[in-house]
Amino acid sequence: MDDRVFREAMGKFATGITIITTLEDGEIHGMTANAFMSVSLDPKLVLVSIGEKARMLDKIKKTGKFAVNILSADQKEYSMYFAGQIKEKRDVEFVRINGIPIIRQALANILCTVHSKHVAGDHTLFIGEVHEIIVQEGEPLLFFEGKYREIKN
Ligand code: FAD
Repeated sequence: MDDRVFREAMGKFATGITIITTLEDGEIHGMTANAFMSVSLDPKLVLVSIGEKARMLDKIKKTGKFAVNILSADQKEYSMYFAGQIKEKRDVEFVRINGIPIIRQALANILCTVHSKHVAGDHTLFIGEVHEIIVQEGEPLLFFEGKYREIKN
């Protein structure tokens, strides 16, 4: 099957956008990801899928901890920046909770330790056990057909 057809079909699934964050040897690393889902309520588990070329992959393997930061509609620049779509270096302000960096003013910060991991083709699925959550009010940043969107009421 053609890669383009696969991408086009996957792009029909509207998602929110997250920044995955972790701290390795005192250095914070962030990466934009929309391959995120809730997995289980008891225990509380979530899943992220990280590509084999992403620097984030080795970092989560080493630290065994990460946060999923669900972006609000006014945090599009964060998404572009942590996907490498904005090239110039920026100073991003993080808050640390129990040694895990999180993004301020995200709609939700979900702090996890790695419960299990599964290599699936060119990605690794990390299942995270959730041990802390911070939630804020606001509108979400959305992604559909390769473009950023916002909810129109
Ligand atoms: P890099 O490419 O090295 O870093 C990303 C950017 O963040 C760089 O500009 C870097 O300078 C900056 N940065 C990182 N940490 C800091 C810091 N502490 N302070 C300042 N700047 C910092 N890929 C997946 O594997 N899974 C997905 O689910 C996924 N979903 C995506 C959804 C969207 C909408 C987009 C646009 C991209 C998605 N990607 C996904 C692709 C992924 O975001 C990029 O390939 C990303 O560049 C890979 O990150 P990396 O870990 O290799 O880090």
